[in-house]
Amino acid sequence: MSQNAAIRMAPLSSRPLASRAMSEDANHALFMPRNADVYRQGMQRCIELVQRKLTETGQPFSGILPSEMQRRFEGLDLNHRLDDLDAVLAEVERLYLDDAVYFHHPRYVAHLNCPITLASILAEAIATPINTAVETWDQSAGGTFIEQALIDWTVRRIGLGDDADGVFTSGGTQSNLMALLIARDHRCAALDGHQNREHGLPADAARLRIFASEASHVSLQKAAALLGLGHRAVVPIPCDDRYRMDTGALARALAESRQAGTIPMAVVATAGTTDFGSIDPLADIAALCRQHGVWLHIDAAYGGGLLTSPRHRHWLAGIEQADSVSVDYHKSFFQPVSCSAFMVAERQRLGYVTHHADYLNPAGRHDDAPPDLVDKSLQTTRRLDALKLWMTLRLLGPDALGELFDRVIALTRETYDLLRTAPDIEVITAPQLTTLVFRYRPRGHDLDDASLDALNAHIRQALSRHGEAVVAATRVRGRRYLKFTLLNPETGIDDLATIVERLQAHGADFLTRDDAAPPRRHDLAAAFS
Ligand SMILES: *Cc1c(COP(=O)(O)O)cnc(C)c1O
Repeated sequence: MSQNAAIRMAPLSSRPLASRAMSEDANHALFMPRNADVYRQGMQRCIELVQRKLTETGQPFSGILPSEMQRRFEGLDLNHRLDDLDAVLAEVERLYLDDAVYFHHPRYVAHLNCPITLASILAEAIATPINTAVETWDQSAGGTFIEQALIDWTVRRIGLGDDADGVFTSGGTQSNLMALLIARDHRCAALDGHQNREHGLPADAARLRIFASEASHVSLQKAAALLGLGHRAVVPIPCDDRYRMDTGALARALAESRQAGTIPMAVVATAGTTDFGSIDPLADIAALCRQHGVWLHIDAAYGGGLLTSPRHRHWLAGIEQADSVSVDYHKSFFQPVSCSAFMVAERQRLGYVTHHADYLNPAGRHDDAPPDLVDKSLQTTRRLDALKLWMTLRLLGPDALGELFDRVIALTRETYDLLRTAPDIEVITAPQLTTLVFRYRPRGHDLDDASLDALNAHIRQALSRHGEAVVAATRVRGRRYLKFTLLNPETGIDDLATIVERLQAHGADFLTRDDAAPPRRHDLAAAFS
């Protein structure tokens, strides 16, 4: 494929200015007025390359193994440059694009990666060259107000109230870390005025507890470890049969916590669990949190897309009662990585992450000091990720985004019916958002759990090796399952039917073969025509 690409490149003599200029001379290296033509032509080359890959890539993945990829990187010497931009692009195509995982492909159904809006790509084409750093007004100006306007828009959609505020983050992981950091410091301050930021953790910190459902995201454990509380500070609350937090169990756990002398620091409710797309009973959990005086964080990293949904917004009822909320625009708002936000109901709470530097945002400033977003962020230098969402909203409007998410929700229900009625497939539960967890379990074979695990692991690997579809895997009650995460509104039920047929075929094949290793890459295009 890369050889073909090289052949398609223009001959040396007629190569455009960009290709020659970018390599010949350090004077043409930078984004500068005198290089405006070099810039435009270079961008054009990149757009043409991506456009070609977009139209010629027939599969979501090539099936390459890490060991095969590793071999391509052997012998590369990064101390010696290539001849020109054409050579660099040919190498990028060979080392990256030929074997990239294409999220826009209808048979990519693995993780919470979405196809992205064209408007958001155009925004990246503006934000990257201008290279605004949004942390302070003096580096950002209008960028600061664009981000702030989107935070204000999101908190209004949530209904967090007039005092709410927030900041863009790198993702749900950072947002959840901020939530638990603020909840921790807020709780410690209430103990005896202890200021963690100045003094570190008090002795009582070992007694702090975080309550989250068994199906909550692993970033909560990660945050607890980073915050000096340890994984064990996160108390797993059992779920009901549809993987929503059991609020009776939460009520008991909160009561037991007090009796045991531990200190409830936060409850994390998930609006869209990563594996099951389940939404915890937000309003009931909010009532319990009020009763116990505990911080309520709602992790809507995935389910946040419902904020724009014309049909299903009411599934988030209760989210407006949160003390803090995480939303990943790079999941259900069809934005490129990274684009995400963290919000609190009381803006003053963001003060727990404020640190002053004389050179950046000096202390002791007055009310008319410029708005410096760094005051409420864990990061310092930070991209204008907000421009993507801004241009998407200004060009498409929120309803169009919500329509796209609604379409995927409808497709997931259709796919559930497909799986339920397909032979030899066992589905865990009816979908809520856009995930389905299931396994291949052939009738007429008396397979134990370990054999079923091996069979399903094989199926996933075989699909990936052939590049015909990319599906995810997870464990439920210790056993291996396959997972579809649907986020592509252009995927059709036919695509899913084909994937199901292929995975049944790989499963049946495995049972009749001694050698279980998946075969070398085949061209299975025929199977999909
Ligand atoms: C994806 C996800 C996260 C983590 O978000 P990143 O953007 O990957 O850091 C947190 N919580 C839930 C429920 C998620 O689905």
